[in-house]
Amino acid sequence: MPADQTTGTTHASKDETGRRLVAELDSARAHARRIQDEYEALLADPAVIQEDRDATRILLEGAREAVAAAERAVERHRSGTYGRCARCGAEIPAERLEAVPEADTCVSCS
Ligand SMILES: [Zn+2]
Repeated sequence: MPADQTTGTTHASKDETGRRLVAELDSARAHARRIQDEYEALLADPAVIQEDRDATRILLEGAREAVAAAERAVERHRSGTYGRCARCGAEIPAERLEAVPEADTCVSCS
């Protein structure tokens, strides 16, 4: 994809962040769907022991939480509050957002 350098870096990087957040959301949803399918297969199979179902259910809950967090991040980005701590209002450092794109709190509030 050819880079458009004419729009200025601030604008371009905001778009870049938005695209990245949407991509994260897509992959979180795909991941949750895969686990959901797996979980349903386990539920349908009478030979599967409950412990295995429980382990997958816990994975599924985690995957759903990740989807919800990614949705919130996309929403915050759209409303212009992305990158600010939801608790204290401080700016979340770029390195933290790089490592945890869906972070909604700064390191000290997390
Ligand atoms: Zn904070």
